[in-house]
Amino acid sequence: MNSRTTQSSQLFRRAQQVIPGGVNSPVRAFGAVGGVPRFIAKAKGSRMWDEDGNEFVDYIGSWGPMILGHAHPKVAEAIRLTLEDGTSFGAPTKREIELAELVLKAYPSCERVRFVSSGTEATMSALRLARGVTNRKYIVKFRGNYHGHSDGLLVQAGSGMLTASGGSSNSAPSSAGVPAEFASLTLVADYNVPETLEQLFKDFPEQIAAVIFEPVVGNAGLLEPTPAFLTSLHELCKINATLLIADEVMTGFRLSPGGATQLLKLEPDIVCWGKIIGGGLPVGAYGGSANIMDFVAPSGPVYQAGTLSGNPLAMAAGIATLTELEKNPPYAQLEVYGQKLQMGLEIAALEAGVPLMVNRVGSMLTAFFQAGNVTTYNDAVKSDTEAFKLFFNAMLERGVYLPPSQFEAAFISSEHDQTDLEMTLNAAREAFAVVAAGL
Ligand SMILES: *Cc1c(COP(=O)(O)O)cnc(C)c1O
Repeated sequence: MNSRTTQSSQLFRRAQQVIPGGVNSPVRAFGAVGGVPRFIAKAKGSRMWDEDGNEFVDYIGSWGPMILGHAHPKVAEAIRLTLEDGTSFGAPTKREIELAELVLKAYPSCERVRFVSSGTEATMSALRLARGVTNRKYIVKFRGNYHGHSDGLLVQAGSGMLTASGGSSNSAPSSAGVPAEFASLTLVADYNVPETLEQLFKDFPEQIAAVIFEPVVGNAGLLEPTPAFLTSLHELCKINATLLIADEVMTGFRLSPGGATQLLKLEPDIVCWGKIIGGGLPVGAYGGSANIMDFVAPSGPVYQAGTLSGNPLAMAAGIATLTELEKNPPYAQLEVYGQKLQMGLEIAALEAGVPLMVNRVGSMLTAFFQAGNVTTYNDAVKSDTEAFKLFFNAMLERGVYLPPSQFEAAFISSEHDQTDLEMTLNAAREAFAVVAAGL
């Protein structure tokens, strides 16, 4: 069993002296699961190694980008070759056009794409664009959907909102440092509960610039959209001349060659990307029809810029990743592996007498520790987080690295194989026994 944490413990203490909480993104601190966050030394394919030399089957995949596994030879080679020619110029380059063409080819409804350096920047800029195009000030997001950490998106429904019909303007900041005035411009509806969206359109007629959503939610644990929700979302936006923004930062190029948009036949006005399109380097993007995108500076009046936007190394990693996905599409294989993992977990939990509901779309999966169907955010939060915590730590001890929160999705890469699967399910059988003993 894997339990050496000497180096990680020391590094975590040292990190806390110089970095807030010892990490550069909160979930990495293992706050929801306890224990020592593992400091990763290297990764290759489906595996990661920490500073103590422990080996893990990795189901985080850097939270989504690593669909081809870690340090894929073609991606690594592209980065190496690009590096020789310099790492940033602050001037246009050919690679930006190549990546733009690859992205747009996969999303036929989009004619222009602007590259930025993170998913946060992509959604933030997409919302500014939507406001610029419509000349309206309100936006709508869904509870439990995550779109990065810009002010207007760190917002939660105010108390009382979810009891009656839903619609209400009393949104509140979900982070200190976000003024209530900013939060008040973001209205919050319930994912998969169309009535709550309908109510907001009634309460704010001709004032809603955009509705932003995760087509398949990864950030509340995995939630799949119901057909009724998707239909209603599209109709309401169309009737109200509100722009529909599909946040495909996580799902783009993961759920199908054309992401969730292709898989679910969505018709978004603006699409946001990140993660996979940067092949593990910092990239985000937003795109749409020429009519809409030509509002962006310097073509139009909506300002948006970036010193490192379209960075050569990031473009090269993205081009190599999307090219490989196109040449050797892993989607069928990811589906098979996903199915086996899902079934294996369900059977192991059943045998151990642990209530478990596994939600999965392709290579994204969440095992919720509860018996009921998980369709809405309200369903997700009913999960037994103490059971999850026991399970997570038991899996980590046995060399399987899952996302350290019940409300995140696990990611499979094209490099996960039968050996990984067997190791994972063997660990899961033992881990569910640990959970059962602790219940
Ligand atoms: C990760 C993520 C973001 C934020 O991207 P960053 O690169 O972390 O800023 C936005 N939206 C969704 C759906 C994401 O999964």
